[in-house]
Amino acid sequence: MEQDMPKNYDHKAVEGFWYERWENNGYFHAVPNPDKKPYTIVIPPPNITGKLHMGHALDNTLQDTIARYKRMSGYEMLWLPGTDHASIATEVKIVEALAAEGLTKKDIGRDGFLKRAWQWREEYGSTIVKRLRKMGSSCDWERERFTMDEGCNKAVLKVFKSLYDKKLIYRGDRIINWCPECKTALSDAEVEYETQPSHLWHIRYDAPDKSYSITVATTRPETMLGDTAVAVNPEDPRYKDIIGKTVILPLVNREIPIVGDEYCEMEFGTGAVKITPAHDPNDFEVGLRHNLPILKVFDEKGYINENGGPYCGQERFECRKNIVRDLEESGNLVKIEDYTHNVGTCYRCHTTIETIVSKQWFVDMKPLTEPALEAVRSGKVKFIPERFNKFYFNWMENIRDWCISRQLWWGHRIPVYYCDDCGGVFCEETAPEKCPVCGAKLRQDEDVLDTWFSSGLWPFSTLGWPEKTEELDYFYPTSTLVTGYDIITFWVSRMITFGMEVMKKPPFENVYIHGLVRDSLGRKMSKSLGNGIDPLDVIENYGADPLRFSLVTGNAAGNDMRFYWEKVESARNFCNKVYNASRFVLMNLDDEPCELQEVKELSIADKWILTKLNMTIGEVTRNLDAFELNIAAEKIYDFIWGSFCDWYIEMAKPSLYADDPDEKKRVSSVLLRVLSVSMQLLHPFMPFITEEIYQRLPRHEETIMLTEWPKQCDIPAFPSEASLMETLMETVRAIRNVRAEKKVPIGQKIEIKLIVPEPEALKNMSRLLMKLVGAETITITDKRTEPQKTDVHLVCKGAEAFIPLASLVDIDAEKSRIIREIERVEGEVARADSKLANEKFVARAPESVVNEERRKRAVALEMLESLKLRLADLT
Ligand SMILES: [Zn+2]
Ligand SMILES: [Zn+2]
Repeated sequence: MEQDMPKNYDHKAVEGFWYERWENNGYFHAVPNPDKKPYTIVIPPPNITGKLHMGHALDNTLQDTIARYKRMSGYEMLWLPGTDHASIATEVKIVEALAAEGLTKKDIGRDGFLKRAWQWREEYGSTIVKRLRKMGSSCDWERERFTMDEGCNKAVLKVFKSLYDKKLIYRGDRIINWCPECKTALSDAEVEYETQPSHLWHIRYDAPDKSYSITVATTRPETMLGDTAVAVNPEDPRYKDIIGKTVILPLVNREIPIVGDEYCEMEFGTGAVKITPAHDPNDFEVGLRHNLPILKVFDEKGYINENGGPYCGQERFECRKNIVRDLEESGNLVKIEDYTHNVGTCYRCHTTIETIVSKQWFVDMKPLTEPALEAVRSGKVKFIPERFNKFYFNWMENIRDWCISRQLWWGHRIPVYYCDDCGGVFCEETAPEKCPVCGAKLRQDEDVLDTWFSSGLWPFSTLGWPEKTEELDYFYPTSTLVTGYDIITFWVSRMITFGMEVMKKPPFENVYIHGLVRDSLGRKMSKSLGNGIDPLDVIENYGADPLRFSLVTGNAAGNDMRFYWEKVESARNFCNKVYNASRFVLMNLDDEPCELQEVKELSIADKWILTKLNMTIGEVTRNLDAFELNIAAEKIYDFIWGSFCDWYIEMAKPSLYADDPDEKKRVSSVLLRVLSVSMQLLHPFMPFITEEIYQRLPRHEETIMLTEWPKQCDIPAFPSEASLMETLMETVRAIRNVRAEKKVPIGQKIEIKLIVPEPEALKNMSRLLMKLVGAETITITDKRTEPQKTDVHLVCKGAEAFIPLASLVDIDAEKSRIIREIERVEGEVARADSKLANEKFVARAPESVVNEERRKRAVALEMLESLKLRLADLT
């Protein structure tokens, strides 16, 4: 026990030990329990490619803090962990690994590739999970899931089929976002926009007989290769006569029509727009209205294809240069303007995306979003902080169809089968043997689903859906989702959409949104900047508790935060303070401390710390219930460090060392109770050190993590005594300040006269007070006698104090110091007098110099006056 409590806290030994014990004893495991209310959190599944980064560390600290608090509060707490197959991100890594061996996907084929991917997952998938354990995460590892495990795959197939049957999933030629680097379609949520400087090229298209011409402006001249029309507003007087006629596309000499379409704004530029249906979403719509051909000119790598005539085989940006040069030569380039615009880039690789027409699978989102919007509007799903409602509404109200097919191999393969003989198309959860119409062999769709399709089902697929499980019944809807604002569109919105569609209930009640962890300069942590900080390094050097505490404090929900080493250090110092104080208490306790309620008479200091504790429990509980984790942590910190360590333990020392056994028993039982409850309050934030200390208390349960969360009513409160104590503390602080100001040596004892309204109440406190301020004698009275002039007079809230100067300073020494000072100032006056008596000086020196001399003399005289008064006081 306390005897073997090492002098210094060794986080490395402690953290590993307790985590293993917790996990092996099944403390994290949750089961449907009719006697308890469930509280469920599903983890945002980290990618199997991922290393644990600061964002995960923050995300998991918040979840674990909530989980541990709720578990102690009596809920059947399930924190369900797992990982995401991360279709595109993982596939990119495997392709890279293959390339290092000189292989391509084609070389090893689909089956070979998938084998590699699963091996990859076996090898690296557990890395991140191991690291989450290092953070102290109290996940129910027995229920760990993977977005591509059998159950999750079943859920995906069932939802796909059901939406397909309802015609809410369809396949069609649509304009989609295409990454030429990753060679796959991307959903709108996967495109990031960057502002880039560019140009606006004005190009003239001539009539076949040159009798008229039209000038169009574009930021992408190379797309002209795919133009199949020029559009003008039908009301535009400039072009009224030529609608229906044609122009010749320069360089490739293709004849294209001039169409009239409302989409053209007369006020914008020349009022005429080139139409490239294959590569622009608006042009695609214009093309549909006018039945224009769709001419694709880019291949999957972003190179010009055979439709580009002489430019075939050129890379898109190289082609742009060549086209501009050729237009200049042919005289069709009218002018070039500087222009800044938003360019869409791939969220994975930041390559400029292409918008191209492609046959893809889509989810028709509009009919699905209404219930998902209603879930938030009605307050059934609450965003914390609330301002993210608006962000969500804005995304959902302007939603476009979701492109869900990806030209990748790693992922859930689309469960649609084609018959090449009879042209049949079948969507089935289990692969059909042969064509149900003609009996021919079937061919499965080559594409896989967007990775967010399966993570969108996460809150119920992980609980067993589509099976009717006890878990699903008990733990769904989940309680709180904790995630970053950067994936509200990707993930949160889709979970709500699928939850409403499939389960008819929102997937969670609360969405706690946090920001990003930036570096100390406020920059995003990134590989390219080299400014990332590995949470494992922090844990190694400081421990998981300080890392967690530094991530929770000083930052409210929804805001980005900055990572400072100073914050981790200060959290580590807090750890040490907690450890050292606990060690002191445990080493000096009475051998058989009694329970608090058995103590007959509490001192005013006892009553004060208990009242403080009572209030802290109440406030912290309210803060945690309102998801104000940062405020709760700061209050616990203030209580433990400020009230308990700095004041109460100090005040308890005389009693601990007293000869009176009753007094030692009393103070021991208060110390023990306050320490024990403090560790419970701190446990959700700093799980390891609190368990370590708790286990050394003379009375303890099997683990602190399953103890009951402290209740305010369990700790007695004494408001009037506590406020008296506060008065006393304020007085002590004021007296300590005086000592410091007057530079009174530490050992020097002072005298104090304290005037309070009820001196009786403080009768027992005098010894303590004397110790706290280093006083030799103390008089506590309600009679206000006229103070000596030499007394230092302090006025505090509810008390006054007088300290005779003689007790603060050596009067003889002070007298001789003043006499010396008087002599010096008298010299000053004499010098000024003689200068001012000099007529030449007064007459010749500039007026300002003379005035300055007079001013100095006056100041010196004033000083002399007060020095003499002071001397008289002392004598
Ligand atoms: Zn990409
Ligand atoms: Zn068939």
